[in-house]
Amino acid sequence: MLKINEIFYSIQGEGTSAGLPCIFIRLTYCNLRCTYCDTEYAFYEGKDMQLEEILTEIKKYNCNLVEVTGGEPLMQKESLTLLTKLCNKGYDVMLETGGSLSVEKVDKRVKNIIDFKCPSSKMEKKNYFENINFLKPTDEVKFVIGNKEDYNWSKEIVAKYKLDEKCEVLFSPVFNVLDNRKLVKWILDDNLNVRFQIQLHKYIWEPDKKGV
Ligand code: SF4
Repeated sequence: MLKINEIFYSIQGEGTSAGLPCIFIRLTYCNLRCTYCDTEYAFYEGKDMQLEEILTEIKKYNCNLVEVTGGEPLMQKESLTLLTKLCNKGYDVMLETGGSLSVEKVDKRVKNIIDFKCPSSKMEKKNYFENINFLKPTDEVKFVIGNKEDYNWSKEIVAKYKLDEKCEVLFSPVFNVLDNRKLVKWILDDNLNVRFQIQLHKYIWEPDKKGV
């Protein structure tokens, strides 16, 4: 049994799969409280669903790409079983996680997208950097950057752990806080081997629209 906030079919807005149709399974609960959080509605709201119910629900979408997200999906231990079952069914599975909980036990077929928290999130101390030991070349590490301090911090973390040699590294501006062009300029000026990204869905629909 898992507490599910929402299940929907939309366009993947972030990462290397941006622009592709994708099924989203959003799990309830989060152990963090980022200053810029745009999914606070997932902190407590949700309905209990059996794993088989979830699999039946997503079957109605003719789509092979699935993202398990939150909130923080790893707050619910059974999310690990869900991820494995999705892989067994032949889905391409992504896990979006806030970087504070271990991904060690996540099925190795899953693409982990680990969102390490920058200083302006006020959650920096919660980062569980041991997760870097479990990175696969197919995984992604994301930094959501709100200002120059966040940028410098992210740059240092990338260099310290040689993250760009381990997997894809994403630098994303906090929507409506950091100007896209500023971040692009910083990346180019420093000649960083990272991928700039924006949250596509916030440009397609209203920025606070749910279920997209
Ligand atoms: S980890 Fe994600 S869901 Fe949790 S508070 Fe931060 S932005 Fe919100």
